Amino acid sequence: MSFAPTQLLKQGVNKTGTLLLSPPVGGFGYFRNHGSRQSRKIALTFDDGPSKPSTEILLDALAELKVPATFFCVGVNTAWHPDLIQRAYSEGHIIGSHSMQHSRKAGLKPGNNTDHIDQAAKEIADVIGQEPRLYRPPWGWLTPWEGHRLTQKGYTIVGWDVYTLDWKWPEPDGIMVAEKARRETQNGSILLFHDANAGVKEWDKRETARAVKHIVPALQADGYEFVTASELLGVSAYAPVLSLVK
Ligand SMILES: [Zn+2]
Repeated sequence: MSFAPTQLLKQGVNKTGTLLLSPPVGGFGYFRNHGSRQSRKIALTFDDGPSKPSTEILLDALAELKVPATFFCVGVNTAWHPDLIQRAYSEGHIIGSHSMQHSRKAGLKPGNNTDHIDQAAKEIADVIGQEPRLYRPPWGWLTPWEGHRLTQKGYTIVGWDVYTLDWKWPEPDGIMVAEKARRETQNGSILLFHDANAGVKEWDKRETARAVKHIVPALQADGYEFVTASELLGVSAYAPVLSLVK
């Protein structure tokens, strides 16, 4: 049976969790979902990478378009592809954290366990020499205690106000994804895309880059300017590596 009671229950729990814990309404006030509504500045963000060749294809597109972006990277993916992290960083993009394993459970656990945050920060700092201070929780699920412990560590928790379904597989058409996102974009928007798949080393994903190539010139023609998420929110993207003990 495809709709066994346990499956229905799981779907219900996931839907309720997303409503309570994710943007736009969830997260107990800890999320920054957009920048100033008085300014034409907006930010492109990409979750779940890096992977090959998907992130390479996207970085090529961003280089061609000459716009900066913010990548919320998974620790295990970072360990596989430090070269891609280094490339994104040196090309002017911001590297944020999307936790170590992309585990929803790790962030939901009460208590003071921050291993999933600290390990990801270390993986990224090992490559770029700075610890990330932008964080986006896996699945967008943020509990009040996770929000509290991240804030204590100096993180800005970045949500979004334009959500795309580009993570789906098989990939939805990039032009359709871009057109929908364009209609939803407003001053200060943070747009959420996915350059890869968390915990997957190789991922041949191409429609996101196609969507970006379509939406960037379109939104620029609408008068928008692309900036990093840290610039949009007026916060620091990194902290000096004081806490790392090798
Ligand atoms: Zn994710």
